[in-house]
Amino acid sequence: MHKQLIDIGLTFYLSTYYKSKMSYIEPAPIKDKDNPLESMMQRFDKAVDLLGISEEMYYILKVPRKQVTVGLPVMMDSGKIQTFEGYRVIHSTILGPSKGGIRFDPDVNLDEVRALAAWMTWKCAVVDIPYGGAKGGVACNPREMSSGEIERLMRAYTTALLDVFGPDQDIPAPDMGTGPREMAWLMDEYSKSKGMTIPAVVTGKPLVLGGSLGRTEATGRGVMVSALAGMEKLRINPYRATAAVQGFGNVGSHAALLLRERGVAIHAISDISGAYYNSKGIDVADAVAYREANNGSLEGYTKAEPISGDDLFTLPVDVLVPAAKEDVITRKNVASIQARMIVEGANGPTSAKADDIINEKGIMVVPDILANAGGVTVSYFEWVQNRIGYKWTLERINRRTDRIMKDAFDKVYETSLKYKVSLRIAAYIVAIDKVASTYKYRGGF
Ligand code: GLU
Repeated sequence: MHKQLIDIGLTFYLSTYYKSKMSYIEPAPIKDKDNPLESMMQRFDKAVDLLGISEEMYYILKVPRKQVTVGLPVMMDSGKIQTFEGYRVIHSTILGPSKGGIRFDPDVNLDEVRALAAWMTWKCAVVDIPYGGAKGGVACNPREMSSGEIERLMRAYTTALLDVFGPDQDIPAPDMGTGPREMAWLMDEYSKSKGMTIPAVVTGKPLVLGGSLGRTEATGRGVMVSALAGMEKLRINPYRATAAVQGFGNVGSHAALLLRERGVAIHAISDISGAYYNSKGIDVADAVAYREANNGSLEGYTKAEPISGDDLFTLPVDVLVPAAKEDVITRKNVASIQARMIVEGANGPTSAKADDIINEKGIMVVPDILANAGGVTVSYFEWVQNRIGYKWTLERINRRTDRIMKDAFDKVYETSLKYKVSLRIAAYIVAIDKVASTYKYRGGF
């Protein structure tokens, strides 16, 4: 009798537990180690010290302008309602309306979004485009959701943030787990609420809906331009150079394709299924075609040897391109990195605790807020085109992106020589100086 009661109790407990699990996706716990917000703040503090800005200005730049958390009940295909937690953080609007992507990923949490929002402020300032910084995210796993579920989630997120978004206010874009399809839903939902089509409320849209030529490959293109600029400084001939690219999503695959086009041999690539190595060089276009035909995954790719994701970081290549997530280069693996250059396609792939060892080893790091700024640059072009109601050619977009990226690299490089600091700290100095001096002119709002 007693045992039976326990069994009934346990069944009841488990069924409520699973029910609650099903209808509420708990945001990922905030990791106490190598937290991206702390990593960002450590670099920020260092740059601020060197620039000698006032305490008043320190807090103006540090504290996000707005942080919104929303609960999003969404009808799943099963007929059950599942509630997701979403965020939008506006870090700064000093340079203009805030700009930044929306991330759909199980690891999304408020600290991550806060760090990513601040990085957008610095990124826009480094490439000198008139935007502040923001970021959004929803803790969810789009890989396990149907397209209908993702659409309902995106529309719910948009509705919850109607007051925050706006073409002169806050302009979202794609990030990990979202793309043109999601941006189209966002634009439609926002336009519906205003009773007219407003394409400039979001960038990274499909071409037919006012997207820009070159936007899809823009981040990868910027990675390529800044990698070549770095190689020139280190006197590495791209036609004799080798690279390993971690992450084969939009950023990694385009960076790999474009680097290959400029002569660099891609010795390794990786995605969630593992890493793939070929000492003779990977045919990147072939790997992309394989991924397309294989449900978006490199799983089972046979034209390269499977290696572990960790081993990719320690390969003897000239250039290492982390193009997936935060905190992949840490105190734990940094000592075994052999690359001469790291070009950060992802946001925050190197934890601040690894910075000193990288500098001691003499590895050049082209930091995220510079290297991956090509995406937001073409987002800016998309927004400009939407507002003037005109379409630019791909040639014009690429030419302008390349120039902006190269100018930004040169400015950061000169600053690193002037202050005798790494390119990363130099990029923060350029960005913080720009935002702080703009604030001095305009004041409060
Ligand atoms: N999500 C991209 C980034 O992190 C693009 C942002 C944008 O285009 O606004 O830079």
